[in-house]
Amino acid sequence: MHDLVIRNALLLDGLRSPPRRGDLAVKDGKIVEIGKTASPGKQTIEADGLALMPGIIDNHTHYDAQITWDPWLSPSPALGVTTAVIGNCGFTIAPCRPADRERVMRNLTQVEGMSLEALRAGIRWEFESVPQYFDMLERRGAALNVAAFVGHSSVRTYVMGEAATQRVATDSEVSQMRTLVLEGMHAGAVGFSTSTSPAHNGEGGLPMPSRLADEKELRALVGCLKEAGRGVFMLTKGGHTRISFLEDLASDSTRPVVIAALLHSSTNPDAVFKDLEEIRNANARGRRLVGAVSCCPLSMNFTLRSPYTLEGLESWQPALGKKGSEFTRILSSSEFRETIRLELSRPAHFRLFNGEWDKVEVAESKRKEMEQKSVAQLARAAAKDPLDFMLDLALEEDLDTVFNALLLNSDEAAVGRMLRDPCALVSLSDAGAHLTFFNDAGFGLHLLGHWVRERRLLSLEEAAWRLSGQPAHVFGIRGRGALKPGHAADLLLFDPARVGRGPRKRVFDLPAGQPRLTVEALGVHGVWVNGVALEQGGRLPGRMLRDFSA
Ligand SMILES: [Zn+2]
Repeated sequence: MHDLVIRNALLLDGLRSPPRRGDLAVKDGKIVEIGKTASPGKQTIEADGLALMPGIIDNHTHYDAQITWDPWLSPSPALGVTTAVIGNCGFTIAPCRPADRERVMRNLTQVEGMSLEALRAGIRWEFESVPQYFDMLERRGAALNVAAFVGHSSVRTYVMGEAATQRVATDSEVSQMRTLVLEGMHAGAVGFSTSTSPAHNGEGGLPMPSRLADEKELRALVGCLKEAGRGVFMLTKGGHTRISFLEDLASDSTRPVVIAALLHSSTNPDAVFKDLEEIRNANARGRRLVGAVSCCPLSMNFTLRSPYTLEGLESWQPALGKKGSEFTRILSSSEFRETIRLELSRPAHFRLFNGEWDKVEVAESKRKEMEQKSVAQLARAAAKDPLDFMLDLALEEDLDTVFNALLLNSDEAAVGRMLRDPCALVSLSDAGAHLTFFNDAGFGLHLLGHWVRERRLLSLEEAAWRLSGQPAHVFGIRGRGALKPGHAADLLLFDPARVGRGPRKRVFDLPAGQPRLTVEALGVHGVWVNGVALEQGGRLPGRMLRDFSA
């Protein structure tokens, strides 16, 4: 007898086959039959035409810290995700010596917007090395299947200590890093991740360690993947990192390269298309490069106390890491403001904030009449420059004013074009990070609701492939990402007429009562991981994935 039979569903196999009506049967966590099932199940669900697809594989998350106190990886499971790839951008928490814990937490607070109080109260430090970290995750279990990168910044900090954020590495240090990357790969990491992005700053405004690496170091570390014979190289690139260099790395290492973060900027509208074109050309030469794109508009809530939105600007550097009266003095300085205006007036290849003041809103202010109005509009009414207006308002309100900026991916025609690119990978949820700035953990439901139903840009079967089959293929996640007999029963049952994500909500459920933004799922009727229905407080059916074919 089967454990579970889902009857009369619209089956989307995750491999782009045309949808068809049929049944699916599960036994011992695996799909055993698909199509017409004669024998009954211990549990039978009448799907009545709801869509059934492989669970969403979220390939860009930052759950590395959260998973140690919240094995439920909230809110991803409720949003249809069944597998999460952690450790993106090189920001892992292993390896880590006890003496470096505080430094690592402070860096995460700055770079990924995780509350320091929550990290201090929450992280279980039952490990030092990558293999020990993986063993801990396996022992403690998780709601989702988890694949993890070896992260460059952690490896660099482990070898170089404080110097990791200050200088290039010596040959001997690089060779120690190689040993650690190989150790992680042998323990079952999905690959090696790094960042060269100027938006990635750690404690005190210092660049995250990986940003200090020269090309030689990157070549040596990516070379470990060749030696290991498998693994994906993932990086979040700064504008100065050329795709041709990444193609070289792909060619030397013979490994796939995932290039983040390709987001569309209205002020430099061609940049991502040039990147995608170069990526396509590299594929034509036989390299395996994919561009990580997002299907969500990138909008961030922020206060001037922690303005991630602005911290990637060169001209913001004098204020980075400053506190108290020194910080407010800098914000008030007309010279400081002038350099920001100058930088924003110049084009950039990739920049989070591009001076689009009509897309920056006052979200929460003591002066209620300002809320939901744009800074451009309010500044005009006050006959002020918009940057002056925003900084003055924030200073008046002790930096408590909450702004919301629609930063990137706001041009729907452009985003639609990116989503259809054959070399694009739908990605960049950043789940587990930037907890008070935004929450795109529901990106998959947004793809199905907005881009399939509302915009008719993709068919249901293409969207299912983008969310499951394609990432399983890119990352070599064996036996998942498709509705096929013998594959794991990672399943998402949803109503195509209602599927989507609700509005962002602020909740205070992190360790030490810290806040985060969350979203609700719309139109989701069931999520199963390895054949087990996900219910908060129930079993933790996820597996630590350590065996990949890519
Ligand atoms: Zn990231």
